[in-house]
Amino acid sequence: SNELTFVVMGGEKVGKSALVSQFLWDKFIEEYHPTVEEFNWIEYDIGGHELMLQVIDTAGSHDFLAMRSLYARTGDAFFVVFAVDDPASFLEAKKIIQEIREENHRNASILLIANKTDKISDLEDFDQSEFEEFASKENIGYVTVSAKESLKVNKLFGDFLNKLKIH
Ligand code: GDP
Ligand code: MG
Repeated sequence: SNELTFVVMGGEKVGKSALVSQFLWDKFIEEYHPTVEEFNWIEYDIGGHELMLQVIDTAGSHDFLAMRSLYARTGDAFFVVFAVDDPASFLEAKKIIQEIREENHRNASILLIANKTDKISDLEDFDQSEFEEFASKENIGYVTVSAKESLKVNKLFGDFLNKLKIH
C-alpha cells in the first residue's frame, strides 16, 4: 500500500498540535485548542517512494482512553510526546507506549519526544536519564525538541519517516 498512518499521541497540552503545525505549515500555534483532532493527508517522499501520509493529531478529550487504543491499533508509526516541564506527561507517555506495544501488531516505529525544551534554562544540566533509560529499554528512539523554536521539527519528522520500512 502507498498509504501510511502516522499518529502523534501524548497527554494534554504537551505540544502535539504545535509539532504537527510546525511540520505541516511551518507555523507555531500560541493558543491551546483542546478538542481539535485533525486528520491531514499529505504527499510525502520516503526513500524514493511517493506516499500518502496521513498525519493524525490526536486530542486529549474525555473520549481519549477509548480513542487511544483505536489509534494504537491503527497507526503505522507514532510520535509519543511529553513536555519537559510536566512530569505527569512522561507517565502518560509511558502508558501510551505500553498500549501501542499491546495493541499494535505491525511492529510500528515509535519515537519518544521530550518537547518544550525552550522552557529549560540549561538543557545540559537537565537530567534526562529516566527518559533515555526508558527509551532504550523499550528499544525506541528518544529526542528533545521545542515546537516553539521550531528549528529541529521538520528534520525530526523527516528523519523519523525516512527510516520507516515501507511495505
Ligand atoms: P496539545 O494539547 O498536545 O496539542 O498541545 P498544544 O500543541 O495545543 O500546546 C499546548 C500549549 O503549549 C500551547 O499554548 C502551545 O503554544 C504551547 N507549546 C507547545 N509546544 C511548545 C514548546 O515547545 N514550547 C513552549 N514554550 N510552548 C509550547
Ligand atoms: Mg492538540
